[in-house]
Amino acid sequence: MNEERLVAASAGLEEEQEESSIRPRLLREYVGQREVRENLSVYIEAARGRGEALDHCLLAGPPGLGKTTLAHIIAGELSSGLHVTSGPAVQHKGDLAGILTKLNEGDVLFIDEIHRLPPAVEEALYPAMEDFAFDYMVGEGAYARSMRLPLKRFTLIGATTRAGLLTNPMRDRFGIQFRLDYYGFDELSAILARAAGILGVEIASDGASEIARRSRGTPRIALRLLRRVRDFAQVGGKDRIDRGSADKALERLKVDQLGLDSLDRQLLLSVIEKFGGGPVGIETLAALCSEERGTLEEVVEPFLLQAGLLVRTPRGRMVTAEAYRHLGLTPPPGLQGRMF
Ligand code: ADP
Repeated sequence: MNEERLVAASAGLEEEQEESSIRPRLLREYVGQREVRENLSVYIEAARGRGEALDHCLLAGPPGLGKTTLAHIIAGELSSGLHVTSGPAVQHKGDLAGILTKLNEGDVLFIDEIHRLPPAVEEALYPAMEDFAFDYMVGEGAYARSMRLPLKRFTLIGATTRAGLLTNPMRDRFGIQFRLDYYGFDELSAILARAAGILGVEIASDGASEIARRSRGTPRIALRLLRRVRDFAQVGGKDRIDRGSADKALERLKVDQLGLDSLDRQLLLSVIEKFGGGPVGIETLAALCSEERGTLEEVVEPFLLQAGLLVRTPRGRMVTAEAYRHLGLTPPPGLQGRMF
């Protein structure tokens, strides 16, 4: 169900191809995440100065916030080769051996969704990360021997949307760890302005901020909305996107002022109507919006929490007074002045 949503944070296949043309290539083109950018530029410069591979790097955060982009940038800034794979794609130790033995000195290996590596592969990754060696067994039974294959020094960049699912030994092996945050409106407007330039779309600053406001703090969603708004503008005979045309298009696309789509609104409404606003458990919430629990926890809920529409309490999730008002409802008296 998530795939079809205009506000889904994960990318479709076609979108992935389009994204690669918009992706910033240099650290200074990467908008926002100031602390990450500043620290990273120091680490990169230091590694370059020493002529060494950069320490392994863990990037955590919801989908669409720029983890893959950052991996490309790091490899670019280090003038290193980049190899891209993902947790679900490396199911056997042999797959990992194939990837690791292809790496050249100083290369960057990007493993997306690293929390989805099977335990046996994860364990084989430990000596590779620590000692730049791959351990394997030859022979069987009494004749079995452990062999060690030396590897070139490389940098592993792991990305995860579920940092909590990562094992401690895995997490501890990353010398550099960053958590990406949702973007502010100004940052998203800057990302939109840059992308519009590349796509050859003319956009007024009020048009960019209108799209930014409804993009759930997520660059991927902002860029997707830009493409859809561009379609509406083009068919409507407008060669420039301004606030009016953005607003009209987004209204037709049913993405509201806060970036909620009809499923988000339905979810909040169900909690209000069926459960008196909560508290409800995560499983109930997942059933209400027909999402998998994982998607709900890593994508839908963080946004609703950050937008102040939902709160987590020890007894479960509760809809806030703000959510009632957003849906055009009057919050119950007990909720009005309650601070969470
Ligand atoms: P993730 O790997 O976290 O799912 P991506 O790196 O694929 O996210 O980013 C999605 C899209 O958003 C990319 O096409 C990229 O162009 C854009 N993007 C993400 N972060 C930034 C940023 N900080 N500055 C500019 N564009 C960004």
